[in-house]
Amino acid sequence: MENTTTTPGRVSRLLEQLTESATLAMARLSRELTQQGLDIVSLSLGEPDFDTPQFIKDAAHRAIDQNITHYPPVNGFLDVRKAISEKFRRDNGLDYAPEQIVVSTGAKQSIANAVLALVNPGDEVIMPSPYWVSYSEMVKIAGGTPVEVKADFSSDFKVTAAQLEKAITPRTRMIIFSSPCNPTGSVLSTEELAAWAEVITRHSELYVISDEIYEFINYAGKSPSIATFPGMYERTITVNGVSKAFAMTGWRIGYIGAPRWIADACTKMQGQVTSGTGTISQMAAKAAVQADPELIHPMLETFRGRRELMHRLLSEIPGLQVNMPEGAFYFFPDIHAFLGKSYRGERIETAEALSMYMLRHFLVATVSGESFGDPRCIRLSYAASESDIRKACGRIKDALLALE
Ligand code: PMP
Ligand code: GLU
Repeated sequence: MENTTTTPGRVSRLLEQLTESATLAMARLSRELTQQGLDIVSLSLGEPDFDTPQFIKDAAHRAIDQNITHYPPVNGFLDVRKAISEKFRRDNGLDYAPEQIVVSTGAKQSIANAVLALVNPGDEVIMPSPYWVSYSEMVKIAGGTPVEVKADFSSDFKVTAAQLEKAITPRTRMIIFSSPCNPTGSVLSTEELAAWAEVITRHSELYVISDEIYEFINYAGKSPSIATFPGMYERTITVNGVSKAFAMTGWRIGYIGAPRWIADACTKMQGQVTSGTGTISQMAAKAAVQADPELIHPMLETFRGRRELMHRLLSEIPGLQVNMPEGAFYFFPDIHAFLGKSYRGERIETAEALSMYMLRHFLVATVSGESFGDPRCIRLSYAASESDIRKACGRIKDALLALE
């Protein structure tokens, strides 16, 4: 008989310090409630609701038929890295030789490799805030200290170069950011990136992880990679992947382009953790990065329509502050006006409590802002159908207006 009642033992001190990924936790909870028969509408997880394009699936079928099923080189197949090298040149004006590229199990592992390869215990890592949930926990795994530099709704959630400069100390080893940004959707302009680069290059031994996973989900056009600014190439790890642009979240492929010594360090790390990433997925990702980025256009236009719809619906809710994000597929409205209010005697004090209240009483799943560094906000993903967006925004409105 299956034993489901084992007494839990003691987990490591490291694990005790870590928080569960808030995005994945909320996705899990809404999945569980749906399985219990509740009609949950979920705006929790940032993943395209499209299917992977057929030509990518065909490439995967071919890989299976050709028995590309043995251990790959740890850093990825050479022809896959060549294709990524070409993609960096074509889309980003970045010259990374195949030896400077490492293919990993999602952009998440790409970032984790780079953090673990460069950060020592006691090092400070600056995270312009709001930031993506996993950055802080990865830094903690490495024994580093996450340092938040805060921007809020009033500055479109963008940290200035002057703020960065003020936060840099002799112990600062790294800066991690995403643009387009998860969770805010903000996109740093060429001028803003240039100003950041100018500050960063004044400090030796300071490295940057530029998370460009939302590169193609940018409504304002294209943005430059920070590695293209003077003095930045030598100190930047450019992270990208196929999860978002090609609706390939489950294939788990991400990659970096970086100076050779950093790529080698990431390969060494990966060699002890995963031995390299799945061969079938690599061949599928090769087809994706070789494809004309114009193919993504219809998906981008669908997201653009949903962005406009959601902006309109959220703007109709009195007390909710909402900006117009330029990229990614998230809104990060400021909900602080509702904190301290009550529902049937239950007082809602935090964004986390608000998010749980909306889930329990109004069946709409969101992610609270705390784990992104901003406890005044909640995150809503519009990688959902129009009808779900309408339903969810209606429920959010009802939930907020029910508070007194
Ligand atoms: N960076 C950001 C900003 C993200 O939103 C995500 C989530 N997909 C990732 C990295 C990780 O991407 P992947 O699914 O390729 O691991
Ligand atoms: N990155 C997505 C999100 O922020 C997927 C979840 C995750 O990888 O944490 O929702």
